[in-house]
Amino acid sequence: MTRTGINLLSRPLLAIALTALSLSWSLAPARVCSDSSGLSTSAEIEADFNAAPCKDSQRLNAVKSLFEKMGAAPSDVAVEKYRGVENVVVRKQGASDDKIVIGAHYDKVSDGCGAIDNWTGVVVMAHLYRTLKPYMLKKTILFVAFGKEELGLVGSHAFVDRIKKEELPQYCSMINIDSLGLAAPQVLDNTSSKKLTALTADVAKELNTPFAHAGISNADADSSSFIARKIPAVTIHGLSNDWMKILHSRNDRVSRVNAANVYLGYKLALTLATRVDESPCNAYR
Ligand SMILES: [Zn+2]
Repeated sequence: MTRTGINLLSRPLLAIALTALSLSWSLAPARVCSDSSGLSTSAEIEADFNAAPCKDSQRLNAVKSLFEKMGAAPSDVAVEKYRGVENVVVRKQGASDDKIVIGAHYDKVSDGCGAIDNWTGVVVMAHLYRTLKPYMLKKTILFVAFGKEELGLVGSHAFVDRIKKEELPQYCSMINIDSLGLAAPQVLDNTSSKKLTALTADVAKELNTPFAHAGISNADADSSSFIARKIPAVTIHGLSNDWMKILHSRNDRVSRVNAANVYLGYKLALTLATRVDESPCNAYR
C-alpha cells in the first residue's frame, strides 16, 4: 500500500472443493485441512508470513524461494527487469492465452518489517499458486510480485507498460492483494473497478465472509496501474481504521498480523479468481 496526498486437475473438482470448503469455512475454519482438497490451511499460511524477511534487500530472493516451496520449478520463476525495477512473474498456463493477473508487491518501506504491508499479500499469492496449480483453468494466470510499489507503483507501471496495445484484450482482470491481516478483507474503492468490486462482494456473501468496501483517499495500490490501461482490477486489503499508525512504521511487524483475517483474504481471493476464470474475458470491463 502506498500513501498518497497529504498524509503520505479438473475444474469440477475445484468447484466441489470450494463449495465444500465454503461450508467448512463457515462452520469450523480450524478444521480445514489441505490433505484432501489441496487448499492451504490457516496454520500453513501463518507459518509463511511469520517468516517475513524484514530487510528489503532479502525480499526478492525470498519471493523466489517461496514460490519454489509452493511447487514452482526454478525455471517457472522469472525475474523481469525493466526500467530499473524487478518483478517476479510465475506463469501458470491455462487452456487459453486469456490472462488473469494475481499480484502483490514484495518491497517494503525502511521502517518496520513490512509484515502486513505486504508480506501477507505475497504469502497469500504464493498459496493461491499452490492451490490452483494442479487444475487446468480456462485462463492463464500470471502471479506477479511487484517491486518498488512503495516508491510510487513502479513495478506495476513497468509491467503494464510492456503490454502491447493489441494484447490488452487478453488481460481479463487483475486481482491485487495488499496489506491483509488487521481486519476482515475489504476492497479499496479508489483503486478498484466497479464490476470486479461487485463480484468480490457477491463472492464474500456466498462464502459467508465479512466484507466491506470503501475508499481511502490517501492510499494507492498496484491495481491502479492496470486500471490506467483499462484492465479491470481490484485491490483486496485488510486494513483497520487505525492503519496509519501501523503501516510504514515500526509497528508493521508479524505480531500485529491476525492470521484468521489473512486466511479470509486467501479464501476470498481464491474464489474470486475461479469466478473470473469461469467468466468471459470481457465480463468485468
Ligand atoms: Zn505500503
